Amino acid sequence: MSAKYIFVTGGVVSSLGKGLAAASIGCLLESRGLTVNLMKFDPYLNVDPGTMSPFQHGEVFVTDDGAETDLDLGHYERFTHAKLSRDNNWTTGRIYEQIIAKERRGDYLGKTVQVIPHVTNEIKAAMKKVAQDVDVAIIEIGGTVGDIESLPFIEAIRQMRQELGREHTLFMHVTLVPFIAAAQELKTKPTQHSVKELLSVGIQPDILLCRTDRFLAKEIKSKIALFCNVGEEAVITAKDVASIYEVPLVFSREGVDTLVLKYLHLEAGERNLAAWEEIVHRVYNPKDEVTIGIVGKYVEYEDSYKSLKEALVHGALAHNLKLNVNWVEAEGLETGDQSYEAQLEDYDGLLVPGGFGKRGIAGMLNAIRYAREKKVPYFGICLGMQTACIEFARDVCGLAGANSSEFDPATPHRVIYKLRELRGVEELGGTMRLGAWPCRLEPGTLAHKIYGKLEISERHRHRYEFNREYEEMLTAAGLRISGSTPDGTYVEIVELPDHPHFIGCQFHPEFKSKPLEPHPLFRTFVGASYEHKLKRRAQREAAEVEMFHRPEKVGRR
Ligand code: GLN
Repeated sequence: MSAKYIFVTGGVVSSLGKGLAAASIGCLLESRGLTVNLMKFDPYLNVDPGTMSPFQHGEVFVTDDGAETDLDLGHYERFTHAKLSRDNNWTTGRIYEQIIAKERRGDYLGKTVQVIPHVTNEIKAAMKKVAQDVDVAIIEIGGTVGDIESLPFIEAIRQMRQELGREHTLFMHVTLVPFIAAAQELKTKPTQHSVKELLSVGIQPDILLCRTDRFLAKEIKSKIALFCNVGEEAVITAKDVASIYEVPLVFSREGVDTLVLKYLHLEAGERNLAAWEEIVHRVYNPKDEVTIGIVGKYVEYEDSYKSLKEALVHGALAHNLKLNVNWVEAEGLETGDQSYEAQLEDYDGLLVPGGFGKRGIAGMLNAIRYAREKKVPYFGICLGMQTACIEFARDVCGLAGANSSEFDPATPHRVIYKLRELRGVEELGGTMRLGAWPCRLEPGTLAHKIYGKLEISERHRHRYEFNREYEEMLTAAGLRISGSTPDGTYVEIVELPDHPHFIGCQFHPEFKSKPLEPHPLFRTFVGASYEHKLKRRAQREAAEVEMFHRPEKVGRR
């Protein structure tokens, strides 16, 4: 049977959560026993987001096959079982790159190469490829309807409807229904205009997902239905929720999945969302809370660490805890004296995430020294593992000026240096060590205990590596290398055995964590942080009891 397609577009403004909506629909369809795949088209001209600043683009999500993709793919993987690869994210730049390569090869046999049909054909072929082995392919078109850049994608989905018919294609449009405080009214006009915009390029939406901060009353739904030419049942309240994991439940209460099945003439089983209900129950009923400090740059822009934040949430949910994350600007810890310590005191655990460039490194080293000496649980990811090695080399092994050649090419001690396989590679796009690589753990280490097995596979995105010339010196001083590539070339995990929980990994485990399958590294880090909190709480309480029982205190009462 050929796959059915759901096309998700967005209107009015960006950031309405199209990605989350697509992911949640995928989750709902899977909960009824259907198989899904998801893909996103990004209308910009970069070939991929790999070379873009986190300020511009947010996180770069890495797939197993080493594609640097849009962060919405992270939502797709967290909400569904879809196996994503470079086939699941296309930019205009990549479509054109492919077409121009064909043109140079002479594949077009002398024809004029045009947006229609050549670009649209390329887009349609990409869609059909991800739809191959599933019941439903959910295709998100990035950007906002009306943008010049997204026109070829919109035209391609119009053609898909033409080609495959109503029963195989469904247009879902995400819009905004704002509440205007001055008028005390919900406004439908932006939605009407957005649908008009879509109609002007030949697309009549079937379902409207209306982002709003309150439930849409029947009259509002009728009004939108009338003006936008959709059934009343197809005007869905997509109400803001405190936890993104509640979105599938909100959609199910509005009957979105039932509607999708009906419109696409699909047969499916009963919906089973028990596991998601349990997760959402935990979100709203934590037994206690835990506070993690993330020391990095770009911290004021949360999107740059999307998967990381979610993986920590998953780790906290595994212990039935509410997660508080505080983003600590690394440069703010470069005080030149010990005063930065006051900024770190309240955290139950510290984490240095991935990053590039030397800004903020000195602050990260201060935070790591603090965590190491004060026995605060520490988790270093990629850059956070490299900086942990640098701190150890400098402060424990006495190697003054030890550094990564990324931050100081003239350092006397290149504890971290350019990946051997990348020497001589200067181009920036797609040239890092990317994607899933196997790693072998040392028996009896913390890493082994955390994973409960000796062979693992994790996703990478880096250009520098640990320099094995320093292995003997650092391990003699107490650092343990607990994970390496099976051939022994690359160091993948380091840890400190004489610390309650100090671990750094060269890969990015956050990309593989899901709410229903929290990643063991995050689960155990959050667990250790909570234990640290309980220990400190007990110490504080003991100190208070002692104060209370002091004779002079008692006498004064
Ligand atoms: N900048 C470091 C490297 O390229 C770390 C990269 C990262 O944290 N993703 O190796």
